[in-house]
Amino acid sequence: MPAIVTSPMDMALQEARLAADLGEVPVGAVLTDGATGDVLARAHNRVETQHDPTAHAELLVLQEAARRLGQKRLVNTDLYVTLEPCAMCAAAISLARVRRVYFGAYDPKGGGVDHGARIFQQPTCHHRPEVFGGIEESRSAALLKSFFLQRRGGRSGEGAASALE
Ligand SMILES: [Zn+2]
Repeated sequence: MPAIVTSPMDMALQEARLAADLGEVPVGAVLTDGATGDVLARAHNRVETQHDPTAHAELLVLQEAARRLGQKRLVNTDLYVTLEPCAMCAAAISLARVRRVYFGAYDPKGGGVDHGARIFQQPTCHHRPEVFGGIEESRSAALLKSFFLQRRGGRSGEGAASALE
């Protein structure tokens, strides 16, 4: 094990970079044990690789951690993700009873936490995690921007964080 301590958001950014290398929208996520800080799962988007529109980084870490722990609820866990979760992932985060969500870049077009459906603010949402947005925002956004810039042949970085489609 390396002696250098890597923050969970750094790990999520590493995952996002892996995703970009595979041609996936660069979003990474890490789920930690809220008490010990141990990493329970880490993942990046695998929508293209798995041909699965739901294979977002957040869903993948929730699924892996729940499987590993053998429980459906992930109480006292904290999720770190490089982009504001979409509505689907936000709903899953609530169902899993995640304690805190730290996300990087805001996603005005595809986000479901501070934008769009605002899942955690709905009366039908029965568990609201604490949410901290804009963590390592510039690094997270820069990854997305350069990815979309490359994909569009350098035409424009506009709408970089627009989504995971
Ligand atoms: Zn999502």
